[in-house]
Amino acid sequence: MIESQVNPYKRRVFKALLFITALGGLIFFLINFNRGLFLLASLELVAGGISLWLFFQVYRKLPLAKFRQLTMTYVLIFYALMLFALTRSNVSSNIYIWVQVIPLISYLLLGLKRGFLMTLFFLTLFVLSFLVFIDLPVELKEAASVANIVFGTLLTWGLSHAYEKATVDSQAKLKKMASTDHLTGLNNRSLLQTYFEAAQSQTQFKYKQLAVVVLDLDHFKVINDTHGHDIGDLILKNFSKVINDCVNHPNHAFRIGGEEFCLICANTSLEQASILAESIRTQVSAQKIEVDGEALTYSVSCGVSVSDDKHISFKALHAEADRRLYMAKSSGRNLVINQG
Ligand code: GH3
Ligand code: MG
Ligand code: MG
Repeated sequence: MIESQVNPYKRRVFKALLFITALGGLIFFLINFNRGLFLLASLELVAGGISLWLFFQVYRKLPLAKFRQLTMTYVLIFYALMLFALTRSNVSSNIYIWVQVIPLISYLLLGLKRGFLMTLFFLTLFVLSFLVFIDLPVELKEAASVANIVFGTLLTWGLSHAYEKATVDSQAKLKKMASTDHLTGLNNRSLLQTYFEAAQSQTQFKYKQLAVVVLDLDHFKVINDTHGHDIGDLILKNFSKVINDCVNHPNHAFRIGGEEFCLICANTSLEQASILAESIRTQVSAQKIEVDGEALTYSVSCGVSVSDDKHISFKALHAEADRRLYMAKSSGRNLVINQG
């Protein structure tokens, strides 16, 4: 699955966190300034200011890479400040409470993999600082307190991980459902543009081309009218199986309409795309669908187009393939046309 946009739920979480930390930065600045902890107070004020600045950045529509950069910046500043406060034993005896938010923030903002690594990295740093800075508050020298912090943090870590994993899995499932054609299991047209752009960036236009093949079943209405809609569906499923057998990764197959299909092939010449279309056409002609003891056959017509222009749009390449498809239809059907 290609991830290209900022997840709106992560964006919302980030905005909420930035608002809270901007406010928290100001409150902690006032508290620690009053206590005479000027360095920490100034750092908190700066962190609060950065949070406010980030808050306004996130309000704009950001590309994914920029969003990731901002969340990483935030997490690093926030955790570094926490670590710094932790090493000052005179700050507050219950500063360790903050350690427990590390897994939660890391997973919510950075996702499963980066969240896990960030949690592991910073919790290790916190444990090391715990061991190295011997001037600890008196409660933290007691086994029960240490156990509370360790198990509380592990619980937050485990729950954050499980929650993020469940969210990622269910989002992937929903995305897959939304982009899959239920009858044939092929991609539906919702991902056409995304996959076309991916194929376009994969194609090395200096030496190779980008191909589009349009395939349309012949006289499908007659099949439906003669044998019924269910048999029509059976043929559509059979056709998708033929496509899956002939098309290999990284070529992508789509059902773009009722009985109309399309292939997007990166790094593929006109000859290669035509051979692929021809192999689908011949395989289809060889299919025999059992209907009431009789073997039903069907056929497909194909139009092929390629381009070596790296700025070509899907619309333009598809239109050319479609024009050739209709030449195949008007030339008698059960044909592949790749020129004209
Ligand atoms: P041509 O060879 O010129 O392409 O003729 P055709 O009959 O295949 O084309 P036409 O566009 O006239 O008919 C397409 C038919 O496909 C009409 C529609 O009922 C049928 N169809 C579209 N979607 C489905 C589907 O999901 N299942 C079934 N069984 N039929 C479908
Ligand atoms: Mg048709
Ligand atoms: Mg059609």
